[in-house]
Amino acid sequence: MGVSPGIAIGTVHLIETGLGQVPEYSIDPGSVDDEVARFAKALSKARQQVSRLKQKGAELADATAEELGLLLDAHAAMLGSTRMIDAVERNIRDQKINAEAAVQAMVREIARGFERVKDPYLAARLQDIRDVGSRILRQLTKTPYQAFSVLPAGAIVIADELSPADIALMDPTKISAFVTALGGAEGHTAIMARSMGLPAVLGASSVLAAARSGQTVIVDGEGGRVVVNPDAGTLAEYTRRAEARARLNRQLARLRTLPANTLDGTSVGLQANIELSRDVDGALNAGAEGIGLFRTEFMFMNRDSLPGEEEQYALLRSVVEGMKGRMVTIRTLDVGGEKLTSVLGDNAGQSANPMLGLRAIRFSLKQPKLFEAQLSAILRAGAHGPVRLLLPMISSVHQVRQVKAVLKRVSTRLRRRGVDIAEATPLGVMIEVPGAALIADSLAQEVDFFAIGTNDLTMYTLAIDRGDEQVAGLYNPLHPAVLRLIQFTVGAAQRAGKPVSICGEVAGDPRFASLLVGLGVRELSMASQSIPRVKQRIRALDTGPATRRALAIMDQAEEGQVSALLDDFNENL
Ligand code: PEP
Ligand code: MG
Repeated sequence: MGVSPGIAIGTVHLIETGLGQVPEYSIDPGSVDDEVARFAKALSKARQQVSRLKQKGAELADATAEELGLLLDAHAAMLGSTRMIDAVERNIRDQKINAEAAVQAMVREIARGFERVKDPYLAARLQDIRDVGSRILRQLTKTPYQAFSVLPAGAIVIADELSPADIALMDPTKISAFVTALGGAEGHTAIMARSMGLPAVLGASSVLAAARSGQTVIVDGEGGRVVVNPDAGTLAEYTRRAEARARLNRQLARLRTLPANTLDGTSVGLQANIELSRDVDGALNAGAEGIGLFRTEFMFMNRDSLPGEEEQYALLRSVVEGMKGRMVTIRTLDVGGEKLTSVLGDNAGQSANPMLGLRAIRFSLKQPKLFEAQLSAILRAGAHGPVRLLLPMISSVHQVRQVKAVLKRVSTRLRRRGVDIAEATPLGVMIEVPGAALIADSLAQEVDFFAIGTNDLTMYTLAIDRGDEQVAGLYNPLHPAVLRLIQFTVGAAQRAGKPVSICGEVAGDPRFASLLVGLGVRELSMASQSIPRVKQRIRALDTGPATRRALAIMDQAEEGQVSALLDDFNENL
């Protein structure tokens, strides 16, 4: 799956699963059973990962599938080996050490036994054992890869799986693309790739077997192609394509200062989604009118301790000031689901169905201290420029009222202390749970604006995990059920006279622009990189025909017909 457009030609950097330093500590006798259970859970996650890799691998050409299959079979066998499991459990129980330390001790014991035998076959098995140990450790520690800082410039990172937190560690000026074996197109790993403007291909299991560090590789993030060791002809062809793309981008950059108005003069606000404060420059360069979605959860990733109110305030303030008077929509912590962050420890994500569990606003409402610190930081940032407050994953009016009560408490306290805050901070909700869309009329009475999160709305409406490549083929925001929820939400906002934007990934895809404008949407928020192309499309639209086509689309029963009608309209623009 090509998930982030662009062509990169560079050198393979295969991410070894080695972890380097892992935490080692003693545990008290009363915690031994919990520690063994923690190990069992990590083991089962590691097994699931191997079986998913295997399933993906089976789709490959014969020889590659066989090679990869053998390797993964060996890993699966080790992950099921009672000898290995017993050894780790014994280490935890007898030595009263944490699971990570026990896994490392097990790997060391086996390695010592192997080292005496000079046999190339056994040497390869030893590597397998180390890999398996690292796989379990990674599940235990949830530690992101630390190796990105030492990459050669222009490296193309290839790994079995990269989390959103891993991607946040990448420096887009040093890395030119990445490729993984696992991951779906709408997961946050993919979103991060688009936001950083890094070409990326996910779900490419064959590349793991084919690529070696140091080889030349081409990544075509639009077509979803990865060419390892290209011949001269292929290299020339892709160099030509990369140049053509750069030319097109230069042309699009000229649109920067032009308004996103349709041919008949309807103005559509184009804003940027950002994840990190470093994204502000990109947003301004792309001509964003503001920040339509700041995903603050990324401030909580890749660190050992929680950011306090002061640190959050300083960062939010820098974003608000950086946007020079343009609106910044700050979303409260959306943690849980696939956006786990280790710093929150056991408070988040310990659920059989994390996407349906203690995620986003549900988590915040259970952690009043954390939530109040974040709200306080946001309100204070509002003293330095226009700020809106956005709540993720709202599913009921009651939750909004609960938040309002907390907000009132926080703002009263700040005012009493004489701290500067904005006079009023507009409050909005994400509409990303089908239940919220269906009560949009009631929610509109409670809040100042809506932001429709089509990524989660599609996932929850169709019951398809947005980050799982196995069901990626079924994930479709053009499903009539999703479109009806969008249409109803836009209507509810219009009836209440409240602004509504779309900030899911469809907002950044020019293909959807005519349909969304036709449905009455007048604000879109997207990865900065997407703004020029969406603007170009909007400037070619007429709202009359777009609205008529949208209505025709809403009469369709099946997503195939929706696609056909939409593409036909776009082709005739
Ligand atoms: C969405 O769900 O569409 C959205 C914009 O939020 P996130 O992608 O951060 O879940
Ligand atoms: Mg969401």
